[in-house]
Amino acid sequence: MVNESYDLIVIGGGINGAGIARDAAGRGLSVLLVEADDLASQTSSASTKLIHGGLRYLEQYEFKLVAKALSEREVLLKAAPHIIWPMRFILPHQKHLRPAWMIRTGLFLYDHLGGRQTLAGSHGVTFADHPAGMPLKSEFQKGFAYSDAWVQDARLVVLNCMDAASRGARIMTRTSAETAVRNADGWQVTLKTMDGETSEVRARGLANAAGPWAVRFLDEVASQKHPYSLRLIKGSHIVVNQLFDHDHAYIFQQPDGRIVFAIPYERDFTLIGTTDVEHEGAPGKVTIEEDEVRYLCESANRYFERSIGPDDVVWSYSGVRPLLDDREDNASEITRDYRIQLDTAGGAPLLNVFGGKLTTYRRLAEDAVDKLAPELGNRQNAWTGNDHPLPGGENPNPDDLVASLRASHAFIPPSLATRWVFNYGTRAMTIVGDARSLTDLGEHFGADLYAAEVDYLREHEWARTAEDILWRRSKLGLRLDDSEKRRLGDHLAQSFATPMEMSASLR
Ligand SMILES: Cc1cc2nc3c(=O)[nH]c(=O)nc-3n(C[C@H](O)[C@H](O)[C@H](O)COP(=O)(O)OP(=O)(O)OC[C@H]3O[C@@H](n4cnc5c(N)ncnc54)[C@H](O)[C@@H]3O)c2cc1C
Repeated sequence: MVNESYDLIVIGGGINGAGIARDAAGRGLSVLLVEADDLASQTSSASTKLIHGGLRYLEQYEFKLVAKALSEREVLLKAAPHIIWPMRFILPHQKHLRPAWMIRTGLFLYDHLGGRQTLAGSHGVTFADHPAGMPLKSEFQKGFAYSDAWVQDARLVVLNCMDAASRGARIMTRTSAETAVRNADGWQVTLKTMDGETSEVRARGLANAAGPWAVRFLDEVASQKHPYSLRLIKGSHIVVNQLFDHDHAYIFQQPDGRIVFAIPYERDFTLIGTTDVEHEGAPGKVTIEEDEVRYLCESANRYFERSIGPDDVVWSYSGVRPLLDDREDNASEITRDYRIQLDTAGGAPLLNVFGGKLTTYRRLAEDAVDKLAPELGNRQNAWTGNDHPLPGGENPNPDDLVASLRASHAFIPPSLATRWVFNYGTRAMTIVGDARSLTDLGEHFGADLYAAEVDYLREHEWARTAEDILWRRSKLGLRLDDSEKRRLGDHLAQSFATPMEMSASLR
């Protein structure tokens, strides 16, 4: 690690850093990405997990943002059909909240703004003859259906890093940038691993994709001025046992003008979110508060026949949105658009990312590298929009993949084949390897987690702890009990004596 030198160092292994690293590596730049914790350990695993245009942003006249996000849906559905899939949304009509003409106009724009190709258009529904009507209170008789897409958010980050690594990038997790000194011809960055080991690297350019830490990075690590600031807005979700057994999601209008989603989640659960709470102080691990749980339960109870309360919550998660500060008073109305700032005046190139959404990460990364690469003498064209699937996304039809995995390996239970394909796509074959029986998959850690998957995640996806595997590479945390989780943690701790061994194994 001593005195390594790169074209570009990317700070932050959330979706924006991962996207920038992939794009830049694919254009031939030598790239190092450093992430202080696990990949997607912060905001990028705490989202509502929608690749969406953002229907409600139309009310804020954010037409450009909505059009950009809607057109990205189609690109991303093609690039990663195993972790991004179409989802139909049901919006029950409440005429005192928004009149039907307003919703119809919004949905018309939503259908037409973003060059929709594969997704179904919107239409009105009558709940008496629609499966989505079943779990709703009888006062809701009509509504609307429209399309967006679902994404396994943390996996999107990992797949971008895997693709970046396959194009030559080096990905260092659990390694933070402690200081960054800017000279005329490059950056000298001091790195520190979680174990306290430090090292120095050099890079000709630096991309600050530190998400909620982007401003702190400039103030405290790099000592650089910045023209924009961020608003940190916490959002939380709750997970409850399945409230309905069809595959439509709901978008529920609330009396405070906000909307709350209720989404089918991990086969047996319902995901409900989100909140918007101003976050003061340092970003970092945030947790849900009692009044957020209450708010989300009440939001669902307004619509579902079956009432839920705090005792029904089986899991919750929270994250901090790094939003571009546009001086908006209402937290849910702050823009979700991003700004990319290239600063070349103060020495070697510095690119800063302020704001953004998962949905627009690929465009953001493309814009960022379009700006940055010429400063590093690279004039390669943008490439990520042109039929370059993310790892595992080579087969456009995951259902076919499940069928062929089951045909070639009949011992794999249908639910496991489905879970593997909708997380790893074609890479499920790497996990199976030569196995001819469940016993060949190695130690069983609980639910349907076997050593073969754990080994794959360690060897190919930078997983190091039980939490990496149970809550980010998968959502098996919902299914393993405490002793099974501990056993997995012990197993992983024994596998890697030191973090340096870990990073060496992934080089
Ligand atoms: C509640 C909620 C719901 C959302 N829902 C959606 C949605 O449905 N659809 C959508 O498109 N978007 C959604 N978003 C927005 C989306 O999640 C974020 O825009 C996106 O994840 C931000 O990614 P990022 O890479 O900028 O930040 P992060 O994911 O936070 O990544 C930044 C990384 O930088 C690292 N870092 C910081 N400082 C350093 C340092 N000095 N050295 C090394 N590493 C460092 C951090 O550890 C962190 O992992 C939602 C956000 C929230 C909070």
